[in-house]
Amino acid sequence: MRKKQNIRPAVFLDRDGTINKEVAYLSSPDQLELLSGAARGIRLLREAGFIIVVVTNQSGVARGFFDEEKVRRVNKALETMLLQQGAIVDAWYYCPHHPGAGEPPYRKTCSCRKPSPGMVEQACRDLAINLSRSYVVGDNISDMGLARNCGTKAVLVRTGHGKKVLEKAAGELSEPVDFVAKDLLEAAKWICARKKSRGLL
Ligand SMILES: [Zn+2]
Repeated sequence: MRKKQNIRPAVFLDRDGTINKEVAYLSSPDQLELLSGAARGIRLLREAGFIIVVVTNQSGVARGFFDEEKVRRVNKALETMLLQQGAIVDAWYYCPHHPGAGEPPYRKTCSCRKPSPGMVEQACRDLAINLSRSYVVGDNISDMGLARNCGTKAVLVRTGHGKKVLEKAAGELSEPVDFVAKDLLEAAKWICARKKSRGLL
């Protein structure tokens, strides 16, 4: 039985377009480029007491563009790049599925592809997370849907697909968004300020 005071809020971060530069179906560590301020943003959040969890849709696996080993290698390389800047990620989750592309077992209607909450639910089984005080930060509408499905706050970043998502929506986003940030660093500053002003742990 976990002690209640050990339960902390988490920030669930999208990977491509939020932490690292968006590259369609990124499959190799060579393609990784950290977005400006991303490592600092993660550092600020973790110093403020948040558990940092990466949740990423990787349908390139289902589509046959790369295998799960490649996803794990890219995650590992990104983890190392972040660590070199003092930014620690507590856990990594990916969804390799797609409902309509490729072949089974990867072609399936799964419960982990964002906006479905499966990866967040798994993180809550693995870590002591206070979901109601948690946040999702991402560059896509599926990240905002994930936040709604999990009951967390939603922060959209303008990096990656974010700018396009906002332009296309013209102020009428199909999912609720609590804050639009320039990038992960601005998102982190907003989250930390909000936590401080409310005295939330
Ligand atoms: Zn899945």
